Amino acid sequence: MSEQSSSHRKMEQRFCYCGKGTVRRTSWTDRNLGRRFLSCKSPKEKGGCNFFLSADPPMYGRSVQIIPGLLR
Ligand SMILES: [Zn+2]
Repeated sequence: MSEQSSSHRKMEQRFCYCGKGTVRRTSWTDRNLGRRFLSCKSPKEKGGCNFFLSADPPMYGRSVQIIPGLLR
């Protein structure tokens, strides 16, 4: 008899540490190519926090490793 409230994992509605909300960004650095992540809506200079949450499904990591190799 376990009553678990269904937790909807809506990334877009995640809130960061300072509560300003999050935006989805894509990293284009060589190391994290095409990686999607959530970060604070406000930049640090404007009072934002340094919230960081990966928005990728676990299997996505595999293609990230392959893509940089194709570009070289
Ligand atoms: Zn924040």
